[in-house]
Amino acid sequence: MNIIMLGAPGSGKGTMAKLIANDFEIPHISTGDIFRENIKNQTEIGKQAKELIDKGELVSDEITIKIVENRLKEDDCKNGFILDGFPRNLVQAKALENFAKIDRVILLEVPDEEIERRIVGRRACKNCGEIYNIDTYNKKACEKCGGELYQRDDDKLETVRHRLQVYKKQTAPLIEYYRDNIFRVEGKETAQETYEPVKIELSLVN
Ligand code: ADP
Ligand code: ZN
Repeated sequence: MNIIMLGAPGSGKGTMAKLIANDFEIPHISTGDIFRENIKNQTEIGKQAKELIDKGELVSDEITIKIVENRLKEDDCKNGFILDGFPRNLVQAKALENFAKIDRVILLEVPDEEIERRIVGRRACKNCGEIYNIDTYNKKACEKCGGELYQRDDDKLETVRHRLQVYKKQTAPLIEYYRDNIFRVEGKETAQETYEPVKIELSLVN
């Protein structure tokens, strides 16, 4: 089962994608995570991506598409995958059609005010990437691996506002593009609650 996770920055795409990946035993492919990994390892891609990411802009389509195309060729994607953060505009969506067939697109809907609040309180584990919010978990170490929690450079309020604008302009048109294939879900209080209808829906796809 090949799935795309669509939604604004901070809507909870990553958390939901992890739940799906776990239940349906498919890899979770997050382009944001791939870029952050490259930045950490100071690769050529990382150097190019960092400046753009910190400004809340998108990384170039050319680089991003190549990364995803190569990743989907790996063995673990044979039985499916969940894409989180890709495609992010129409150029990427059209390119994706050349190397993958998508079964379902999950759209996570969360109001803007809620998004700002969530992102600014978001913390991630430096070691395993687990995501927390200071509202529900206000500690310095990761519950899972003990790694240090940090705030992403692009999670500062000004950058968040810009990322939301980029989302509306470039990514939101994908909702129309995938209209025949989309499953809409409203972000609820907890990740588990939000995930419930998605799990049922995806169980019906196969
Ligand atoms: P969020 O969904 O919270 O914005 P991500 O981790 O998905 O966070 O992305 C972080 C940043 O990485 C984006 O703001 C963008 O700069 C870059 N990025 C991620 N995916 C893509 C993509 N498909 N195309 C271009 N840039 C991307
Ligand atoms: Zn951790």
